[in-house]
Amino acid sequence: MRKFAVLAAGCSALAVLVGLGAGRAWFSLPSGKIDAARASATSDELVTGTIASRWPVPGGAPQSAAPAPAILPARATTDSPMSAKPTALPAPAPAPAPAPARQTCSNPNALGISRTVEIDTTGGPGLGMSQYRDYDFLQPGEVALTFDDGPWPVNTPAVLAALAAQCVKAVFFPIGKHASWHPAILKQVIAAGHTVGSHTWSHANLASKPFAEAKSEIEKGISGVVLAAGQPTAPFFRFPQLRQTPELKAYLGERNIAAFSIDVDSEDFRIHKPDQLVAGVMAKLKKAGKGILLLHDFQKSTAQALPELLAQLKDGGYKIVFITAKDKVTTLPEYDAQVAPAQPTASAAKPIAKVIRTVD
Ligand SMILES: [Zn+2]
Repeated sequence: MRKFAVLAAGCSALAVLVGLGAGRAWFSLPSGKIDAARASATSDELVTGTIASRWPVPGGAPQSAAPAPAILPARATTDSPMSAKPTALPAPAPAPAPAPARQTCSNPNALGISRTVEIDTTGGPGLGMSQYRDYDFLQPGEVALTFDDGPWPVNTPAVLAALAAQCVKAVFFPIGKHASWHPAILKQVIAAGHTVGSHTWSHANLASKPFAEAKSEIEKGISGVVLAAGQPTAPFFRFPQLRQTPELKAYLGERNIAAFSIDVDSEDFRIHKPDQLVAGVMAKLKKAGKGILLLHDFQKSTAQALPELLAQLKDGGYKIVFITAKDKVTTLPEYDAQVAPAQPTASAAKPIAKVIRTVD
């Protein structure tokens, strides 16, 4: 498909890094540059929820009404660091994670967090109106920041710095492999008090995989992120490219994991000029009025653009909503074992003097 071919050019770095292979985009929302005929419709699709009807989601109609409200009242404080709880991780146990810092905002003019919501993920609610329409929990002017595909050197720390400077927090959806490569950066994300979910092990398009393989991608992603984090993370999950199947969404429900879609796509996988990125996001937000905003801490341009984006959000009167989870995710031992570092095998070597001696 043409859109894949074009998008892959912008995503090749990650495609190589996480093993997607050539020709697959990491995020495949069509853009104006890709299909002019659809360009004007893209934003509408994202904010009106028609996207689910167009994407290859077998039977992928909006999820049926969930039994109970999943959005709980905000906590008393906007500073909601995750508490460290013991978890069943494969030996050797990871080093103790740093205690989440309870930051105080030193910037009197910061954007700040307007309110914090807590999600009860029992039954696996879907959030983000482009695909799930049960929980329209954001008020006009409210924005929830989300960052996918990290953790990544330089870019993720820069995103953290920009968020800290404006005293705001976000939800991160790390890739399991990336977390395994850069656990210290993921720990920085957690230490700063952000919410951390997961985004598969290798950013595969799960809709194109057999169920067992897709399930493994989900579970290894969770296990990898939890192992790297050194503590349980949030039961939040985002499908790569937002491509789900009813079976996988139901599986998340069985696991009591919330599925996160989006309301506003920054398209930062293809827009690499920070000023254009900021202008595009602000224009889409103006049209949508509110929403869960998709960004990528993997992207250098996103890290560069974030200070200005946050400044413009404040100037525009937008309010930041921080999304947290009522419970922690549980990992499955089978998949913990698969992502655990290989244990060094005991050496069968004899003492060196029994093998090698100087004879001359
Ligand atoms: Zn992604």
